[in-house]
Amino acid sequence: MKPIDFQSLMRPSVRELVPYAVENIAHRIKMDTNENPYPWPPGLLQVVMQRLQEVDLNRYPDPLAEGLRELLAKQLKVSPFQIMLGNGSDELIQYILLAFGGPEVKALSPTPTFAMYEIVAKATGCQFIGVPLGPDLDLDEGALRAAIQGEQPRILFLAYPNNPTGNCFRRESMEMLLSEFEGILVIDEAYFDFSQQSFLDRLPRQENLLIMRTLSKIGLAGLRVGILLGQEPLIQLISKVRLPYNLNTFSQIAAQVVLTHNDFIARQLKILIAERKRLYLSLQGLRGVRPYPSEANFLLFWAEDSARVFEGLLSRGILVRAFGDSGPLRGHLRVTVGRPEENDQFIEALEGLCGKGDRG
Ligand code: PMP
Repeated sequence: MKPIDFQSLMRPSVRELVPYAVENIAHRIKMDTNENPYPWPPGLLQVVMQRLQEVDLNRYPDPLAEGLRELLAKQLKVSPFQIMLGNGSDELIQYILLAFGGPEVKALSPTPTFAMYEIVAKATGCQFIGVPLGPDLDLDEGALRAAIQGEQPRILFLAYPNNPTGNCFRRESMEMLLSEFEGILVIDEAYFDFSQQSFLDRLPRQENLLIMRTLSKIGLAGLRVGILLGQEPLIQLISKVRLPYNLNTFSQIAAQVVLTHNDFIARQLKILIAERKRLYLSLQGLRGVRPYPSEANFLLFWAEDSARVFEGLLSRGILVRAFGDSGPLRGHLRVTVGRPEENDQFIEALEGLCGKGDRG
């Protein structure tokens, strides 16, 4: 039999894609994927295990994740019917695009931004339009308006704060989009817990608005719980493409337990926000290094000879995120805020590699 050319059988938009690579590079200190660096407090997992003993794991999970949705609804002061949960917010991005995308449809986002908007748009057969941010890494209102008028996108993704730049876009530009954009407007507040800035209060009077949150950045990344918030009719429409048991029993129970014992998260967030400032000031004092202000749990920085800096950090066991040597992020690295002792080691290593600047 002739060998089959599977490539030719693929959807053209998928054939072009490169699998999203999350590399497993050996390291001591992990500062590359914007997680909470603190492990769960002792005893909490035992509480989860006790609760797990009360459920039948031979049965499918609660298809509506009612317990967790109700808890989140109470904490976020919305109705449970305004919430859809996903296996990470990645899955929610996919649901939005499955529900509203398609071959003739365009999704638009300012770039650089979170890579999944483009990857999932293309994987689901939708076209993706990237509109470059201005030199200040903020929204370029003129370019955005022109692209919206010219391309007529149906879906707009705005990460707020943006990843990997770390900034919350200017409020006035966001307001302009909220009042002028007539398609599905997704504000991805994955890093809300570090920025405390939100558009959730707009939900009651903005029918085309979807807000995304996640539990990944506050210490539950392994559970994969993403939260989509919108007015009930919009959430109901997106439910048409949700897989029935997309949130497994362990994640539903563990998330409920952690969110009802969440004092420790507030304490950790406080430390991480203070550490973000300390890291920023330290990076500012280094030669050939330029950090950008951040409202998230990571910092983007430019470094002279960034490939050498990345390798130098790695040889000291510290893994950060590099963005290669082409595109708008060339020469840039991103570091996730770690525990104070990890940040100390990162700063010391970087100081050894770059040296102190005039201001250092
Ligand atoms: N949105 C943004 C802006 C992110 O940076 C990330 C994670 N890197 C996600 C969504 C995905 O989060 P989750 O773990 O919930 O899939």
